[in-house]
Amino acid sequence: MKTIGILGGMSAASTQIYYRELCALTRTRLGGLHSPELLIRSLDFAAIEALQMNGQWEEAGAVLNREAKALEQGGADVLILATNTMHKLAEQMMAGVSIPFIHIADATAKAIIARGLKTPGLMATAFTMEQTFYTERLVDHGLEPMVPADADRAETHRIIYEELCKDIVTDPSRQAYEAIAQRLVAEGADSLILGCTEVGMLLNQQNVEVPVFDTTLIHCETALDFALA
Ligand code: GLU
Repeated sequence: MKTIGILGGMSAASTQIYYRELCALTRTRLGGLHSPELLIRSLDFAAIEALQMNGQWEEAGAVLNREAKALEQGGADVLILATNTMHKLAEQMMAGVSIPFIHIADATAKAIIARGLKTPGLMATAFTMEQTFYTERLVDHGLEPMVPADADRAETHRIIYEELCKDIVTDPSRQAYEAIAQRLVAEGADSLILGCTEVGMLLNQQNVEVPVFDTTLIHCETALDFALA
């Protein structure tokens, strides 16, 4: 089994989901007392969020690059970055790193295409929904992603940073997310991408009417496929 390097802490709430999910998947696939070989580097999200808010992406990319190199030197065979938003900096992160990188948007796009779907709604941070680094990657795979309207994007983003990244889960926010998902479906979305690694804390296949693609869970499955290949 190969060692998966997880660059996480963005936020810590979702890195815990990665750890739990990778352990559960490994147990299911290998049985017995098996558990995944992991190296988890969990950053202080307050420092990362400050760089995001100040638009200091170059500095944030330098942090990711330093940590990716450390994970490689520590023995990781493959890297995953446990946040959709910071994939904006994937190229800078992987500069000078020679182990493979599993891109969360590629893994998600392949899962959607495998189900024969085309127009996924995307619920994520404002960075991921409004900039092009993520949606264009989906388009490159042949998808036609849809993002929520202005007010819904703002509310989706607010709940991520004010609640989910702090491990706060509330009924009103779940209802707000369900309503946003319903509006995307009414506008033509044939599926829904939980395009932020914390969104699965509020939405899943039980409360969304179209097929749900949870990027955290897909990322874990894809990384484990690689580790066990
Ligand atoms: N975990 C989030 C994501 O998947 C948001 C936090 C961050 O900005 O990294 O985009």
